Amino acid sequence: MFSSPKYYTSKLTKNLISNRWFSIGKLYDVIVIGGGHAGSEACAAAARMGAKTLLITHKKETVGEMSCNPSFGGIGKGHLIREVDALDGICGKICDISGIQYKILNRRKGPAVWGYRAQMDRKLYKKNMQNELFNNTPNLDVLVGGVEDLVVEQPNEEDALQISSLICRGVIMDDGTKVQSKSVVITTGTFLNGHINIGLTIIPAGRIGDKPAIGLAKTLSSLGLRMGRLKTGTPPRLKADTIDYNICEVQEGDDPPLPFSFMNEEVWIKAKDQLNCHITYTTPALEKIVKDNLHVNRHVMEEIRGPRYCPSIESKVLKFSGRSHQVWLEPEGFDSDLVYPNGLSCTLPAELQVDLIHSIPGLEKAEIARPGYGVEYDYVDPRELKTTLELKKVGGLFLAGQINGTTGYEEAAAQGIVAGINSAALALNRSPLVLSRTECYIGVLIDDLTTLGTNEPYRMFTCRSEFRLTLRPDNADQRLTGRGYEVGCVSKERYDKMKKVSEELANGIALLKETSKPCSHWSKLLSATPVKSHAMKRAFDIVDLNRGITIERLAEVVPEFKPLTENKEILNRLHIETIYEFVSKEQMQEIELLKRDESYKLPENLDYNSSKLQLKFEEREKLAAVQPQTIAAASRIPGVTPTSIIRLLQFARKEETI
Ligand code: FAD
Repeated sequence: MFSSPKYYTSKLTKNLISNRWFSIGKLYDVIVIGGGHAGSEACAAAARMGAKTLLITHKKETVGEMSCNPSFGGIGKGHLIREVDALDGICGKICDISGIQYKILNRRKGPAVWGYRAQMDRKLYKKNMQNELFNNTPNLDVLVGGVEDLVVEQPNEEDALQISSLICRGVIMDDGTKVQSKSVVITTGTFLNGHINIGLTIIPAGRIGDKPAIGLAKTLSSLGLRMGRLKTGTPPRLKADTIDYNICEVQEGDDPPLPFSFMNEEVWIKAKDQLNCHITYTTPALEKIVKDNLHVNRHVMEEIRGPRYCPSIESKVLKFSGRSHQVWLEPEGFDSDLVYPNGLSCTLPAELQVDLIHSIPGLEKAEIARPGYGVEYDYVDPRELKTTLELKKVGGLFLAGQINGTTGYEEAAAQGIVAGINSAALALNRSPLVLSRTECYIGVLIDDLTTLGTNEPYRMFTCRSEFRLTLRPDNADQRLTGRGYEVGCVSKERYDKMKKVSEELANGIALLKETSKPCSHWSKLLSATPVKSHAMKRAFDIVDLNRGITIERLAEVVPEFKPLTENKEILNRLHIETIYEFVSKEQMQEIELLKRDESYKLPENLDYNSSKLQLKFEEREKLAAVQPQTIAAASRIPGVTPTSIIRLLQFARKEETI
């Protein structure tokens, strides 16, 4: 039997932010610990599902805080935001009303791998997120305070000795108060046993100015969970008016700036009102400062692993000696005098950071408003999780965000929404949402984490998916909104909008596929180079953006296509469908081939450094170290992407025949 919950009178009521009814004796469906990016998305999702939800976080003013870079999105990360939005998540919508510059990365490549990205006004993002959670989210209470421990029970005596029979029933605050709930989501980011490093100074903290979560780290470890330690860092912030921009390259935003959210047709600012970013480069002088001072840079000398794809300037200098590195100067907001020098994360003593900054062109006189620092923290091995993000060993306890070994706001938000939905589903006795890697990047992220685990901060890239031509940012709503509606986390308004788009797209595709003419006829109609062939070709296959054969061009000669040009959004999506139909099919065939060849034995002494094998340096390094015997074994190495496995198979086959 469950032990009956015990309540303590406490400071709880005083600390409650929301003015909604609250009593110590209230039983919540879901408690979310931590108001960062995973926590915000988790509590909003649980509340949307109709669960009585409580967000508990250290400080009201840091809810939605961007701990590091003032930007959202990027390659792979932008896909995650579109997918979170398709599930009615909130970060995409908040980005659309808080950005200072919007830019699609990877534009030269196909739309499947475009990276939606935006520079945020740091203060505005936080303000808008807090407004959304505190004022516009029914079913959500917010409590300010620290969670020290969990209420974990054994449901019956027979199972008493089996740790897998544990069930989480609530939390214990740092003043001893118990708050009861049917499920709990932990999203404590870099706070578990966190400490920060500047030079040789160590300060216990989850991030600068915030105390670490010590008690909770102990609890998780005492539950028998496998845990590890990771590190990350942030650059110094510079005073904008002390930078000489004249010698820097200018980077402008897009015109028009495109929104993240499927619910928005435009973002809140006009193209001309966007702020510029600037680019400068490091010099040999910077390299010397870093190398001469390694002995006073504790963070760099630590064995613990940091983010491979967002490394500190020290790591870059040590790994790529003699190279110049790009530094992006990103304004922190419309009314902020701070600039974030992206690429200069560093942990040198504060006085040496001044020399480091002054060694960079344009920053010779720059003043530092706040030095950079590094943070080390505990994380839980994500293989302890089910694909719902509930712990295998403790029922009702979900983990999301950096605590699972990931890095980045988007990865956190993506896990947050899944944990929020599933914690609510469990509390409300509904079916969970399990997303597979064939349907979305969120599925890729969760599958990678829960099956392979990670020993370095995990970030998303499009190459992590073997289905990247079908998992595109343009069609995230078509893939996920219906799934979200079924489980109850998507509004009727969004679902109806998606259905309407879906119908219009299907009709458009059908019309383009039904209309066939001989090739000779098409070439005549389009005044193209005459073609003799009388073979029939569908309008759908004639569209070729590279040759200027757009649907608008076809509509000039085939009047039935005119209606397809009236709605710009549908028109864009139709164009994208014509690009990818063929290649997506080809990709699926490759995947089938790969599945068949899983037991293929890789030749001994395969040269993983061969230029004929197109792999990332990281992957070559890992394959060479592990020397997998089969394709299946290679595919289980964390960080080697499915796409690379296909390349490896093709390469190995060719090498064998030589
Ligand atoms: P967070 O955003 O950290 O939120 C955690 C929340 O939990 C906080 O609100 C905290 O107050 C609350 N909390 C913690 N413990 C408790 C408790 N016991 N009780 C109540 N509340 C609690 N990402 C990148 O992609 N690139 C980078 O270069 C990068 N550099 C970083 C540098 C630093 C110094 C830091 C701190 C983070 C960096 N990040 C970087 C990571 C990025 O900030 C995180 O990935 C992202 O914020 C994780 O989101 P989260 O929701 O998991 O945790």
